[in-house]
Amino acid sequence: MKYPSTSNTYCPYCRKQTPHKAKLYSKGTARTMAWGQLKHARKLTGYVGKVAGEKTVKKQGKRQKVVLNCTVCNKKIERTIGTRTRKKLEVTA
Ligand SMILES: [Zn+2]
Repeated sequence: MKYPSTSNTYCPYCRKQTPHKAKLYSKGTARTMAWGQLKHARKLTGYVGKVAGEKTVKKQGKRQKVVLNCTVCNKKIERTIGTRTRKKLEVTA
């Protein structure tokens, strides 16, 4: 899938259509002091190493996200493109 690098879309901060720059969304690093991470680390200490987590449902494909940056107010908006797909998103000129 291809997505244009610049587009004219609605900015909720400017409350009007403004030119936006598109970037691929990337997940940030996990916080080490987050409650879940601390709980996991606490469980790992001791004799038994592995911790059985809850089984997650395997979804077919992932939702492709794009970060739109408003060129007027410089605020960012996250937007999902379409539904779950196995195809990767490309930001093209
Ligand atoms: Zn704006």
